[in-house]
Amino acid sequence: MKPAPFVYERPQSMDAVLALLAENHSDTKILAGGQSLVPMMNFRLAKPERLIDINRLPDLNYVRLEGSEIAIGALARHADVKDSALVAKHAPLMHAAYEWIAHAAVRNRGTLCGNLCHCDPASEMPAIMLACGATMVLKSKAQTRKVAAADFFLGLYETAVKPDEMLVEVRVPIAPPGQTFGFMEVSMRKGDYAWVVVACLATVSAGKFTQVALSAAGIGSCAVRLADIEKTVNGQPATQATCDQAGQLAYDKIEPFGDVANSAQYRRDLLRTLVSRTLAQAAALPA
Ligand SMILES: Cc1cc2nc3c(=O)[nH]c(=O)nc-3n(C[C@H](O)[C@H](O)[C@H](O)COP(=O)(O)OP(=O)(O)OC[C@H]3O[C@@H](n4cnc5c(N)ncnc54)[C@H](O)[C@@H]3O)c2cc1C
Repeated sequence: MKPAPFVYERPQSMDAVLALLAENHSDTKILAGGQSLVPMMNFRLAKPERLIDINRLPDLNYVRLEGSEIAIGALARHADVKDSALVAKHAPLMHAAYEWIAHAAVRNRGTLCGNLCHCDPASEMPAIMLACGATMVLKSKAQTRKVAAADFFLGLYETAVKPDEMLVEVRVPIAPPGQTFGFMEVSMRKGDYAWVVVACLATVSAGKFTQVALSAAGIGSCAVRLADIEKTVNGQPATQATCDQAGQLAYDKIEPFGDVANSAQYRRDLLRTLVSRTLAQAAALPA
C-alpha cells in the first residue's frame, strides 16, 4: 500500500524544525530513520498530515562522552551506537542488547532516538534506558527540558514528547566500576522484536546483590522497571536461590498481556525464567 497524502518539510536547521513544531499543526510527525514510521504509514496505521524530515540537520549524529554520561544525538543511527567503542566500554548492557535489535539494514537507517519515541511495547532499548537511568533531552521553541527515562515511556506508542517538542539527545550514565549486567531475550528470530526481554544492572558486593536495576518489555503497553522485585533482591545473597525467588515473584505479581503470537500464560512463564537467568548472568553464576 501507499501512504495517505502528507505535506513534506525538510528543514536545514534546528531552529527551523522547532519553528515548524511550534506551529502546532494538528498532526505532525518527525521523520528520522523512517524504519517504524514509514511502514506504519504504508499500512495506513499512521496518517500524519505533515512530516518534518530531520535527516538534513547538521551535528545531530554523535555518540560522545560528556562528564559521567554518554550523549547520543537524535541522528545517531542504531549502527553508530552499536559499533561505538564508548558504548562498549561505558555502557556494556546497551552494547550487549544491540546484538538483538533488528537487522543490519534497519540499524543502518533507524535511530536510537526514533526507537525511543516510537515506544513499541516489545522494543528492547526502552527497557535498557530504564535500567540505566537514562535522561531524555527534549527541545521546543520555548524551552529545553530533561525527562528521566522513568517518566518518558507512558504507554502503548506513547511518550512524554509534546507535540511541539523533539527528542534531541539521550544521556546514558556510564557504568560505575564493579557494576555487572544481565540481558536475556526470547523472540521469534534474533533481530525480531522481543516476545519478552529482561535487562539488569547490579553490583555484587561481599556475595550479595546491591544496586539492582531490573526492567522488562514485551509484557505490557511499554517497558517497565520491576521495582518491587529489585527491592526483594537487594541485599540478598547472589545465589541461584535468590534469582529463582525473584523470577517467581515476577510470575506472581505481573500479569502480562497475551496476543496472537503468545498467550499471557506463556509470557508469564518466560518472564519468570528470564528474570531468574538475567540476575544469575549479572552475578556470574554458572548457567
Ligand atoms: C524489519 C524490522 C525489524 C525491527 N526490529 C526491531 C527490534 O528487534 N527491536 C526494536 O527495538 N526495533 C526494531 N525495529 C524498529 C527500528 O528499531 C526503528 O529504527 C525504530 O523503532 C525507529 O527509529 P527510526 O529512526 O526509524 O524512527 P522513525 O520511524 O523515523 O520514527 C518513529 C517514531 O518516532 C518519532 N520520532 C523519531 N525521531 C524523533 C525525535 N528525534 N523526536 C521526536 N520524535 C521522533 C516519529 O515521529 C515516529 O512517530 C525494526 C524495524 C524493522 C523494519
